[in-house]
Amino acid sequence: MKLLERARPQILALQPYSSARMEAHDAAIMLNANESPWAPVGSAETVLNRYPDPQPPALRARLAEIYSVAPAQVLIGRGSDEAIDLVVRAFCRAGRDAIAISPPTFGMYAVAAHTQGASVIEAPLTANFQIDVDALLARVSRNTKLVFVCAPNNPTGTMVPLASIARLADALRDRALVVVDEAYFEFAQATASAISLLAQHDNIAVLRTLSKAYALAGARVGALIAHVEIIALLRRIQAPYPLPTACVDAAFAALTPAAVDQSQVRIALLLRERERLAAALPSAAGVLAVHPSSANFLCVRFEDAADVYKRLFDLGIVVRDVSRYPGLGDCLRITVGTPAENTALLAGLGLREVAA
Ligand code: PMP
Repeated sequence: MKLLERARPQILALQPYSSARMEAHDAAIMLNANESPWAPVGSAETVLNRYPDPQPPALRARLAEIYSVAPAQVLIGRGSDEAIDLVVRAFCRAGRDAIAISPPTFGMYAVAAHTQGASVIEAPLTANFQIDVDALLARVSRNTKLVFVCAPNNPTGTMVPLASIARLADALRDRALVVVDEAYFEFAQATASAISLLAQHDNIAVLRTLSKAYALAGARVGALIAHVEIIALLRRIQAPYPLPTACVDAAFAALTPAAVDQSQVRIALLLRERERLAAALPSAAGVLAVHPSSANFLCVRFEDAADVYKRLFDLGIVVRDVSRYPGLGDCLRITVGTPAENTALLAGLGLREVAA
């Protein structure tokens, strides 16, 4: 795969760490990993004294099934945050390479780039928060290794057309990896994920997470789905044991067919609640705009966001102040909560009569 030549030479050359668990993991007497031979004190849990599998095959297989790819195309990580960091570290040479983003967007792309000493090229979203493919391509230089596309975008909630992603990937073939962050995809009611473009474009990587639709933000389980050679590249620099046993168990439990069905029911409720909020909020005093959202939050512009933030805070309701983002002056990002929480939010904004 030609894109691999764009990875950092040091990463391609290094001898990856080979953990004890990778070398051997299934014997009656395990004396190869300097583990305790006993369960933790005070616990009957007999697996926690052992290091976990670096990429648990059953979880990998289940995620692959859910995302309709081969298990070797899935890298499981500590949330999608870890995968963002891994792609930047694998591709960007400090002081020389760059990533491209379309602000306002998720802040961790730029943080990961700056941590690595890479620069950040920006092609802002258009006035109605669409990505500007031509502007992105015009700004991309020879040393731009990654283009991050957040779909739906945080914090605006805007979905990105698959055609725009395909056009970016076509134009950057063999030059840059287009990383499509689908953290909120399950709320988008989109017919197709960027995963469906992988067969035609080996320079697309898709980020998915169990933190949002599957209610597992505390377990820190995310996935990067990409060409097998990209996955193998990232595995070279991933920590030896990134996935705590308890988190793997929680993820697996949330992904049984019955649990997935239940999550679908919750997602449907959440979408109804999102539309209830979107319909009600424009009537609240001081609301200037409720931006259309394909995610589990709404980006709302107020006459005085700071004042609304404080008023809600005093009522015990915390929303996210996103007014520091370019183009989002006086905007607050409001996560859709339970029906009761949403009713409390509306009441806090002076809309008491809106029924759940
Ligand atoms: N991508 C986006 C767009 C996000 O909003 C977030 C979390 N807020 C993440 C990635 C990170 O998610 P995870 O919990 O999977 O690390």
